[in-house]
Amino acid sequence: MKTLEQVRAQLKHYPVEVAFPDIEKWQHGNTGVDYVHSIDSGVAGPHVMIMALMHGNEVSGAITVERLLQAGLKPIKGRITLGFANVEAYRRFDPRNPDSTRYVDEDMNRVWSSSRLDGAEDSIELRRARQLRPIVDTVDYLLDLHSMHEEAPALIVSGPLEKGIRFAAEVGTPEHVIIDAGHPNGKRMRDYAGFGDPASAKNALLIETGQHFSARSKDVAMNAACRFLIATGVMQASVLGAFMLASGAVQQRFFRVTEPVVATSFDFEFADDYRGMEIIARAGTVIAREGEREFVTPYDNCVIVMPSLRQLGPGVTVVRLGHIVAR
Ligand SMILES: [Zn+2]
Repeated sequence: MKTLEQVRAQLKHYPVEVAFPDIEKWQHGNTGVDYVHSIDSGVAGPHVMIMALMHGNEVSGAITVERLLQAGLKPIKGRITLGFANVEAYRRFDPRNPDSTRYVDEDMNRVWSSSRLDGAEDSIELRRARQLRPIVDTVDYLLDLHSMHEEAPALIVSGPLEKGIRFAAEVGTPEHVIIDAGHPNGKRMRDYAGFGDPASAKNALLIETGQHFSARSKDVAMNAACRFLIATGVMQASVLGAFMLASGAVQQRFFRVTEPVVATSFDFEFADDYRGMEIIARAGTVIAREGEREFVTPYDNCVIVMPSLRQLGPGVTVVRLGHIVAR
């Protein structure tokens, strides 16, 4: 049996191309919750939130939220809330071991169910989620900024509902829209309460901006954040132009995830050096092995979504499989 350290030692090393902002100055906000700031227009409208650092080493979101805080946004209606989620994990970042500070006790993007939030268990992440919850409960539109373990095309994760898919198309970037139902081992914030209820008008998106530490990821994050603020109607495009990528609108492609592939040990290995969004032509192609067990593509033109062994362990989703959806 391998250890996670042995697995990680075999993976590609990515340089840290960006400076980690000192976010301590943002501790005291105006919401009663540390590291959460709100800007109210005073005009009726939606409450929109951009969240960074759901995972402690996903710095592109932190850079984006800091820039938005420094920009002194003036919403034309509604209210904009900007927050840093797992500050405890972020503080512990160590460039010599950059994959180890995704969380402290548990994955904070797997605790967003009432059973976990109202339950008796305790962890650093549950404590923080419980602090954030009263604010999240008042949010109409959420953008949760994430990045990826591997260098791969940026993705927008719409969730499984038609309202989320529509919202991803309204934001219009990045190119790849992933339609999925989340993870078997816990609920994501983007699926929490009204966000995951087809009868609710609330809506949420999650963006994976590219590799955690690449300079490009922070630009993708900022671009998506601006387009989200414009799509929700709280900001005018004319005042955000300087923050956005010049490429403008892209032709989006939609992919529906049909199943997660979940490891049961540290012996899981991919059959190829997948980076994400590869399309495997034939059903029955072996894509991974774990001991004697082989994992094969369940259908033709199977898309490999966010493969990574950096957080490998029993119960961890190491890749999702999906197919192209015509829209
Ligand atoms: Zn993440």
